[in-house]
Amino acid sequence: MRRLLFLPVLLALALAAAPVHVVRPGETLYRIARNYGVPLNELAAANGIVNVNLIRVGQKLVIPSTRPSWPAAWGLTVEPWPLEQGRMAVFSVPAGVGALRVFNLKVPVTHGVALVPVPADARPGAHPFVLVGPELRGELVVVSGGYGHENIALSEEKNALLDRRKIRAEKKRLLAACGPWTAELLGLGPWRWPLDHVEETSAFGTRRTYNGRPGGWHGGIDLRGKEGTPVYAPAAGVVALSDKLYVRGNTVILRHGLGICSNYYHLSKRVVEEGQRVSKGDLLGYVGATGLVTGPHLHWEVRVMGQTTDPAVFTRPQLWRRLTPVAATP
Ligand SMILES: [Zn+2]
Repeated sequence: MRRLLFLPVLLALALAAAPVHVVRPGETLYRIARNYGVPLNELAAANGIVNVNLIRVGQKLVIPSTRPSWPAAWGLTVEPWPLEQGRMAVFSVPAGVGALRVFNLKVPVTHGVALVPVPADARPGAHPFVLVGPELRGELVVVSGGYGHENIALSEEKNALLDRRKIRAEKKRLLAACGPWTAELLGLGPWRWPLDHVEETSAFGTRRTYNGRPGGWHGGIDLRGKEGTPVYAPAAGVVALSDKLYVRGNTVILRHGLGICSNYYHLSKRVVEEGQRVSKGDLLGYVGATGLVTGPHLHWEVRVMGQTTDPAVFTRPQLWRRLTPVAATP
């Protein structure tokens, strides 16, 4: 009798801290396993599922944790683990590592830390990385960011009027404005939100279709705000761009160091100049409806090494605790 109880108790203890997934319509056990980067048989075993084709909507599944596969002797830690689509990861690397190659990026290391933007469309599952210097090769696990989906209806006439050449040139200018990676971090977070009243109308990472055609994902957070609502700097930075653009209207871009930039679109008015230093809470401009939009709101975007990433992560303390070594040493 004692022996019979032993295994379930151990299993329950091991899974006590594991995340729980509630099955949504249309999901399969195979897809859920892939999204969390765990083998199908492990997910099935952790939940006592015999037939992997039999799951029901609303069923609660315990997700067994995945562990990093590289040797502990490397002295490498990655947080959070597993990585999430569209959210930042901090790599603390051993001495002698100059950069990290991952997701088609080469991320420089400063004070033993590399700040990595996980692309919002990174495939859930294993991804290779290289510690440049010792040339150590390992694998990361990326899990789904749990993003939703929305279709945006565009009138065909309006769509036909869009100037593709201008759109491409504007994107290029935005990416160039942020400039190259720099080792200095201008101010330790957590960041404040750019508006005093925070109400999201479109979340970061939402998969979009335009008239049913695939159109990538929402690269920022849309915040509700009346025309004229003040927009504040979330953290210290330097104004990298302040200009009126075709798609994005009145735009301000702040450079924060470590390849991080924060972008503010569709403003009614800008009150900062390029090259100006700003402190956390300084006024940047006011909410508006300039550029190609249907109504006033703030589109807030954060790019790290050119890659859009969930801005909300920068308002939470977890990321900053891991970046303390960078800010502590000038
Ligand atoms: Zn937006």
